[in-house]
Amino acid sequence: MRITPRNDALSLKVLQGLALSLSFIDGQIMAPLSRLFLFWLLNAVATCASADDFTVGDITVSRGEQVSGFITVPEGIDEATRIPVTIAHGAAHGPTLALIAGIHGYEYPPITALQALRARLDPAILSGTVIMVHIANPPSFFGRTIYYSPADRKNLNRVFPGDPGGSVSQRIAHLLTTEVIDRADYLIDLHGGDGNEALRPYVYMPVTGDAILDAKIEGLAVAFGLDHIVMDTGPQHVAGPSLFVDQTALERGIPAITTETGQSGSNDPYWVGLAEQGVWNVLRHLDMIAEEEVANTGITWLSDYTVLNSPQSGIFRAVTKDGYVVTEGAVLGVLLDVFGNELTAIRAPFSGIVNYVISTPPVSEGEPVAMISKIANR
Ligand SMILES: [Zn+2]
Repeated sequence: MRITPRNDALSLKVLQGLALSLSFIDGQIMAPLSRLFLFWLLNAVATCASADDFTVGDITVSRGEQVSGFITVPEGIDEATRIPVTIAHGAAHGPTLALIAGIHGYEYPPITALQALRARLDPAILSGTVIMVHIANPPSFFGRTIYYSPADRKNLNRVFPGDPGGSVSQRIAHLLTTEVIDRADYLIDLHGGDGNEALRPYVYMPVTGDAILDAKIEGLAVAFGLDHIVMDTGPQHVAGPSLFVDQTALERGIPAITTETGQSGSNDPYWVGLAEQGVWNVLRHLDMIAEEEVANTGITWLSDYTVLNSPQSGIFRAVTKDGYVVTEGAVLGVLLDVFGNELTAIRAPFSGIVNYVISTPPVSEGEPVAMISKIANR
């Protein structure tokens, strides 16, 4: 667990004042050495208390308390923003779990789930600390954009670990890395199908090759409780920037998963509930709350996930649906020109499960139309 000691100027001043007034009880009877000792003692007490506090951005929270506030992203080459954050700092010691919602601003269910979790968590009976990032990407959320920030046209989940001198997405990524990811012992990056994606819920489970780390990642992935787990054995970014939230955590040895609950801009309670219950299951798994972990049975393990990108801009008409099982060569959808003439068919490269498919008409060249995975033998 990583705790930032806080120099609590206010309580220090109060205790120093107390020391000063005590030293003058009955006039000047206290010897200078005793006075020095009293100062030392009370300052030590003050330092002890503050070392147990937890600070993120503008928020400092004492043990057994929950506080909400903001990580301020100062103005740079473009606009400033503020990231809403809640810290539940448990009365008992335990791990620090970072929960990040709203990296993509049109993926609403995790954002609503963290609001519910904020009301549901009781720091008095919590072991460890939960950092909830409610809306990681306010420009995208309030600008109602898929994939990209309206401020700088960057995808926040492709610019990690960020750059303090960059545009607003890069500055957000930098502060999330230093203020949140660096502080976590475990991390969940909560997504859903974006505003244009019909998505069958699943968890991305990174597989790094480090047995100890992988066991912890799998623990999170299974505990979250969804019945589709996509094993992500892709490049773990041995060189170059981490780009993704989960990769940024993994590079720091922090077990991380990415979850996908929700679709097509819906904030339906069903999707919200999946995200909220998933986090609750992980709190049980990490022994952060005193509840028995609920076994996840009947997982379909998926591998070789492949995102199919549109060969050109146009109008996409899905033929398949999210969660469908398709055979190799099956048509997943057709690409039309703006008059409705068929340009090409998008086919499944192998037999597998459709994780998501684009559910609204416009597509741009090089952007996703569907994601498909193989059903793994495991
Ligand atoms: Zn997303």
